Amino acid sequence: MPAEEDVNQRLRRLPAVDEVLRNPGLADLLGRAPRWAVVAAVREAIERLRQALRGAAGQAGPAGPAAELDPRALEAAVTARLRPQLRRVINATGVVLHTNLGRAPLPAPALAHLAAIAGGYSNLEYDLERGARGSRHDHLAALLQELTGAEAAGVVNNNAAAVLLVLAALAAGREVVVSRGELIEIGGSFRLPDVMRAAGVRLREVGTTNRTHPDDYRRALGPDSALLLKVHTSNYAVVGFTAAVDVATLAGIGRAAGLPTVVDLGSGCLVDLAAYGLPREPTVAETLAAGADVCTFSGDKLLGGPQAGIICGRSAALAEIRRHPLMRAVRPDKLALAALEGTLRLYRDGREREIPALGMLATPFAELERRATALKDAITAALAAGHASGRLTVAVTRVQSAVGGGALPLAAPDSCAVALHAAGASAAALDGRLRTRDPAVVGRIADERLLLDARTLTDAELAAVAAAVAAAGPFDHES
Ligand SMILES: *Cc1c(COP(=O)(O)O)cnc(C)c1O
Repeated sequence: MPAEEDVNQRLRRLPAVDEVLRNPGLADLLGRAPRWAVVAAVREAIERLRQALRGAAGQAGPAGPAAELDPRALEAAVTARLRPQLRRVINATGVVLHTNLGRAPLPAPALAHLAAIAGGYSNLEYDLERGARGSRHDHLAALLQELTGAEAAGVVNNNAAAVLLVLAALAAGREVVVSRGELIEIGGSFRLPDVMRAAGVRLREVGTTNRTHPDDYRRALGPDSALLLKVHTSNYAVVGFTAAVDVATLAGIGRAAGLPTVVDLGSGCLVDLAAYGLPREPTVAETLAAGADVCTFSGDKLLGGPQAGIICGRSAALAEIRRHPLMRAVRPDKLALAALEGTLRLYRDGREREIPALGMLATPFAELERRATALKDAITAALAAGHASGRLTVAVTRVQSAVGGGALPLAAPDSCAVALHAAGASAAALDGRLRTRDPAVVGRIADERLLLDARTLTDAELAAVAAAVAAAGPFDHES
């Protein structure tokens, strides 16, 4: 082991940041990258060398000054530092509305509209006909009314905000009647009893976890009741000995008592999903036609648009909701409004299959099999051209994908995936190497294999996925 002075001497010999920056080998990098990023990378490299000298009592670390301060190593560090935090991900999980991966990808026409509106000035709050102040809340009302049959409609930041606002506006200080079978928690800490408390309403639970009957609601109504609330169970299903009260019956009970019925539809579907081979979901139009006075739903779940909360229903209720002070706090921005308008117009024009989320759900099995086979071939070719050591087994396999986004929890549409298995590296290790690429590739692990599901991949992404897999070696040991 080197003597103490020896370590001190080497520490003193470490170059200063300025000295490294004067290295002619860095001139090119300094010309291309912002100076702060190069300075930070150099500082970090010197610090790593210092730690290595101290920690290993004199050993210059695995790399040593020459390697750590090599322009190529510094360039890699600078590139990593300049990479944005929000990064593109290739979704190979097969979960179409993956909340962690940003839910619905936007349709191209919605993106174009978003770019046009957000890249310049717009009539967000200006009435171009009258040349006077307008309201952002008016733009999408007609389109939403047309698509849902509602008397009136509004848009807020997300569906959680929509539920909060509707409850606060229509029931503050009074009771809201909900079935015990619908007191849901969805991901990200949205728990219905907590939302109700935050909205300043009192929860009146009725029925049991598995069975709630019309009389349960009738008996709970009294002078303190403000409204009846029905909540879509979204991410779970109660099966077996069950009973729930449908919207038509509930709305009838509400009308008899002079109270409105509000339905939180969660995902909010505008078209009949049976056409997509999926379980039937009540559409917004059906729910309103059945008698719901107000419906709320998300913009980025089955609807396939941007994050937004949509409120549809009776004019009088919507007017009251719009007047509530919380409206300002949860109002949508121009980006969301433009993207939502672009998406809703596709529904109006009968072009909803151009919405990526719906298109992915509608992809026939034969097409998924073709895409998975094309991915397998691309991976095999990339592996043959590369130099990664070890053997990777690449096979096309039948799997089941998921809808996600708290929608259709029991739907498991048949799909096709490429299954990767390395002799010497675990599926978790492969997953880690693909996840940390740029663009990142996120698959899912089953039976010690990494699955890349064709349902959520596009043909345009296959080459990048194949390149990522080929670069994920070595396949004969963990690293
Ligand atoms: C998803 C969901 C919400 C929350 O919607 P966000 O748009 O994510 O805020 C509320 N209620 C139900 C029933 C849901 O499924």
